[in-house]
Amino acid sequence: MTAKLTSAADLPIADFASPETRLNLIGLTRPELSDAMASLGVPERQRKMRVSQLWRWMYNRGAGSFEAMSDLGKDLRQRLLESHSVARPGIATTQKSTDGTIKWLLRLADGNEVEMVYIPDLDHGALCISSQVGCTLNCSFCHTGTMPLVRNLTAGEILGQFMLARDCLDDWPNPEGLRKISTIVMMGMGEPLLNYDNVAKALTIIMDMEGIALSRRSITLSTAGLVPAMERCGRELKVNLAVSLHAVNDKVRDQLVPLNRRYPIAELIQACRDYPSANNARRITFEYVMLQEVNDSLEDAHELVRLLRGIPAKINLIPFNPWPGAPYECSSNNRIHRFADVLNDAGYAAPVRTPRGRDIMAACGQLKSASEKKPAATKVENA
Ligand code: SAH
Repeated sequence: MTAKLTSAADLPIADFASPETRLNLIGLTRPELSDAMASLGVPERQRKMRVSQLWRWMYNRGAGSFEAMSDLGKDLRQRLLESHSVARPGIATTQKSTDGTIKWLLRLADGNEVEMVYIPDLDHGALCISSQVGCTLNCSFCHTGTMPLVRNLTAGEILGQFMLARDCLDDWPNPEGLRKISTIVMMGMGEPLLNYDNVAKALTIIMDMEGIALSRRSITLSTAGLVPAMERCGRELKVNLAVSLHAVNDKVRDQLVPLNRRYPIAELIQACRDYPSANNARRITFEYVMLQEVNDSLEDAHELVRLLRGIPAKINLIPFNPWPGAPYECSSNNRIHRFADVLNDAGYAAPVRTPRGRDIMAACGQLKSASEKKPAATKVENA
């Protein structure tokens, strides 16, 4: 490689704001990239090499334009520039919380908007990525659920969020080797398992050893309980699983997570028992939002212990994050801690999540963009 760049921050960044008509290479598989090379007249014997050069520039160095890709040859770079791009989603707004959390409102090429959140911790950070514009699940305590679903994100848009965050945080590989983004949580807008193919494609590229190379242990996918897709996720992606349980009986869960009417608790728990890559070292996280006098009694806590018996599990207790017009209140501290004590006494780790980024509406379930459903928008099928 001839480039003498020390950090990807030195790289010129492409014009993200321009309306994108060029084919975006981000999110394409190697065979798809090879087809793109063919369409530019690259002879067959060179395609494999070109694909691997491109792959390294895009995913290892984080190049935001073709100009920087010096070993591709001037002529090919010029042809790429005319008809292709490596554009990330555009940024509509950036908000920084007093606790360091950053929320970006992202504008996609078609004008739709989604949110992405970075949650820094002492020596690492988590990036919370969206999988859909809006959500079809309508969980009654979730702000995103009040948005009409517009559409699934493409693999390039899911992966592009991660790449954009690395750009913004100057987090592409550098000699110090410390990463600001050390984990990814698929916990932004949308239900990732309702957009399985695109999520899988993006995560597979993120885990590819010749590129970003984030390990599957550093990735957590959260689902509201789309039972038929869970086994496949564990078998194919082998990422950590988080399940938004939130209630211990079907009557309450039907109200909180309407998807429960389709896949009730018993089926969901069985799917967790069967989740291919769960074991004691890699426990399933159960998310449990604390709603005052809805799901937070001591009986509920005991029932939760009973339900989870035998599953390698940890429980995240999430104090309810309010949003305008929400029909719930957060449980009192007292009730949350008594609930946690029951779980701890039964041997479960049950940390009470400190809400992050509440002041900028970046906390769990507070994400909502202004994207409205367009009349002709295609509806994503519920599985
Ligand atoms: N659809 C997936 C991914 C979203 S993850 C899922 O349901 O798991 C977002 C997490 O935040 C989920 O556990 C969700 O139930 C939780 N959540 C939603 N609204 C919330 C709120 N107002 N307060 C606290 N947690 C909330």
